Order: sequence, then structure tokens, then C-alpha cells
Amino acid sequence: MSFRSVDEFMAHAWAMEAEAASRYAEFADQMEVHNNTEVAELFRKLARIEEKHRDQIAARMKWTQPPGVGAYRWEGPEGPETGSTIELHYLMQPHHALKIALHNEQRAADFFARFASARVPADVRAEAAEMAEEEREHVRLVEAWLAKVPLPDADWDQDLDPPGWLD
Ligand code: ZN
Repeated sequence: MSFRSVDEFMAHAWAMEAEAASRYAEFADQMEVHNNTEVAELFRKLARIEEKHRDQIAARMKWTQPPGVGAYRWEGPEGPETGSTIELHYLMQPHHALKIALHNEQRAADFFARFASARVPADVRAEAAEMAEEEREHVRLVEAWLAKVPLPDADWDQDLDPPGWLD
């Protein structure tokens, strides 16, 4: 992925953070349906952090409305080759949600790390490096939670069409 300007990069970063914030809010709702308050709280917390990132980017760019960029979409754990955007399965368990989160946090960390070493003004590089570090912290946080939640049964979704990202 390449960007012709800082503006373009920031617009992409904004879309990425906005997508993360809304996905985490959805995941939190889903975990509440499963009465998993702990994981729901984790996702609420992450939603707030990504929202803050999104607003920081808008404030820095002095945007008063969302930048006109194509929507950024989270991927399933297997990456873009699995096709379309991920879908939330109503039986989704913490393990599934955390796997998706992990994949996309890693993507975010890589994105900011790449920009942090690009030929852009030093202050932008510094900011990208800071964002990359925060996203790496999310990766570690999500990894720690993945180790704590149970593995789903093989038939967790048996009465339904499996979502594409579990193929
Ligand atoms: Zn994050």
C-alpha cells in the first residue's frame, strides 16, 4: 500500500481506527449476549482507545468531517484472500472475536510501522511510531486474553452455515 501524501496516509489511518472502534463495539455487544462480561469490557476499552486515536487524527488534520476515503474493513484471521469482509456470527465466542482482533491489531501495527519508516516529515514519522507502539500493545493485550479464554468446541456453530473466515 502506498500513499502519495501525508493527507492520504492520515485519511487511511482515520478509516482504520474508525473501523476498529466500531468493530470493537460490536464485539462487546456480542460478548454481552454470551454473558462474558470480562471480554466485553476488554472490547469496550479497546473501542474507546481506537475512537480516541480516530479523533486525534481528525484533530491533527483539523478535519471537521470524516475524510472522503473508501471504507476500511477488518479481515478474517486468514487475511484478504478469504474474500469479503468478516461477518459476525451470532454464536461467536470470545476465542473467535479475539482471533479477529489479533489479526487486525497486527495489521494496524504493521501499517503504522511502515509509515514510521517512510519518507515523510519527522513529526509525522514520530507520530506513526507512537501509534505503531500503541497498536503493538493491543496485540500483546489481545494475545494475553486469547491464552485465557477456552477453545471453542468443534461444533460451536453446527446448526448454521459457517462464516467464511472459519473455512
Ligand atoms: Zn488497536
